[in-house]
Amino acid sequence: MAQAAQLPIISHYTAYKPRPFTREERDKVTILYGGLTWKHERLMQGAMHNLKYNAEPLPNIAREDLDAGKELIDVGACCPTIFTTGSLVNFLKKEVQEHGKDEVNRKYVYLTAGACGPCRFGQYHESYAMALDGLGLRDFRLFLLAQDELDQGPGNGGGLDINMPMSLGIIWSILCGDLVTDLEYLTRPYEVNPGQTELVLRECVEQMYDVFLRRPDRGKKYKTLAWHLMSNYFTNALRDVRKKWEEIEVDHLRVKAKVKITGEFWLQTHEGEGNYNIKRWLEQEDSEVIPPPVAVWLHYLLHPTIRKLEHRNSKSKHPKAENLALHALERIYRGTYNRFRKALANLPHELPDQEELKRLAEPFYHFELRGGEGHMLIGKALHSYHHKTAHMICELSPYSCMPNTMSIGSMANVVGKYPDLLYAPIEVKGDAEVHALSRCQMILTEAKKRAQAEFEGVMDKTGLSVERIRKYEEQHPETRKATYFVPHRRYAGTATNYVMHLAYDKGLARA
Ligand code: SF4
Repeated sequence: MAQAAQLPIISHYTAYKPRPFTREERDKVTILYGGLTWKHERLMQGAMHNLKYNAEPLPNIAREDLDAGKELIDVGACCPTIFTTGSLVNFLKKEVQEHGKDEVNRKYVYLTAGACGPCRFGQYHESYAMALDGLGLRDFRLFLLAQDELDQGPGNGGGLDINMPMSLGIIWSILCGDLVTDLEYLTRPYEVNPGQTELVLRECVEQMYDVFLRRPDRGKKYKTLAWHLMSNYFTNALRDVRKKWEEIEVDHLRVKAKVKITGEFWLQTHEGEGNYNIKRWLEQEDSEVIPPPVAVWLHYLLHPTIRKLEHRNSKSKHPKAENLALHALERIYRGTYNRFRKALANLPHELPDQEELKRLAEPFYHFELRGGEGHMLIGKALHSYHHKTAHMICELSPYSCMPNTMSIGSMANVVGKYPDLLYAPIEVKGDAEVHALSRCQMILTEAKKRAQAEFEGVMDKTGLSVERIRKYEEQHPETRKATYFVPHRRYAGTATNYVMHLAYDKGLARA
């Protein structure tokens, strides 16, 4: 009898599913997270410590993380996916070397934001799972935090309860992280004593960490929401930050090119080797950087739903009521951000109006083309151009990112229509620093010339001299404090707006 052909053993694909993380394990397990700046991450740590979680951010991204990520995941992945996966991989490798696989699987879980949609952000966790397979750490636990639900309840095993206090703590820490970051970038280029901003910033972040750590317990549901929205707890803490910030002496007469950073979410937010440290590099090149707040992204997430309800037939039984509720939610969100800004003397930038971003982008990029930052990149560039808030736009685009490629294509159309818009699209793939920075420098040279010409034009127009301004500053020492508010007088440069302000608001032009 002929022998039956031996069938190959097929091992079917099984999707990664984390083991449960139980309530009883909570004291012994550390939640790892990352992806924002050290300031945001430290404040988030305060919010999680407050809820009795052990939580630790991953070390800041380093160049080696790119190589570690490339070794283990899809080679066509976008550079933020490769960097963030590599960062987790390198951390786990080191821990495994020191403590062994079983201990690492027991001791840590990784929490990351999840989403769905056309960009790879919806598949980050797949890349992480692939890397865990490659490391032989399939038992390592990885959990997703949905971006659109405040109360997701206790997850698999109940060890991680993504409830209102947790979500609000994380969102509030992101807002406060944004605001102190804005203060930092507004101040550092003008500090008189080098390094003072960094020192005060670190003190303030520690102070705010403590504020999140000691956040009072106001229950698990709507009571805690009401408290977060109405209490003075956070505004008082930010007022203390403002007092500390006052210690920093600045010289607002330094002429700097103002550069607005836009781009892909992770790349624009990151501060470090993942984007060639471009924000610090720009400061060294005599610029003032406008960093992108994460709050704009959260605001954007609120908006598409509003627009969907406006433009489409909704499945909701009460679409009008829902629409009104969403508009109210949006107003509350902006109101909260503005309340925090006010506590910081209104120094941090206002959030742009999402309707205006959409309207500005409309002729070039349809708002329903989702993925990445969608139409916002076009909207932000034009917003800055029309409102004269920056001399140039530096857009950080990851290598192998589909949404960003589309946005850069549309920007060619925008620049054709507004040829004087200074726009530097910088492709970042992690290992071509010189090329990227030299590209940026070409546009920056033009931006610097504009900043200087604008300043000289205003000195002529007002008839003021540097000596006259210095004399005024001696008599009004508050003008040398980092908390001195320089209003926007329709010029991009800080020094130019400062001169206009002294000339016309303080009457120096007539004196
Ligand atoms: S926006 Fe681009 S870079 Fe960012 S996750 Fe999506 S595909 Fe990757």
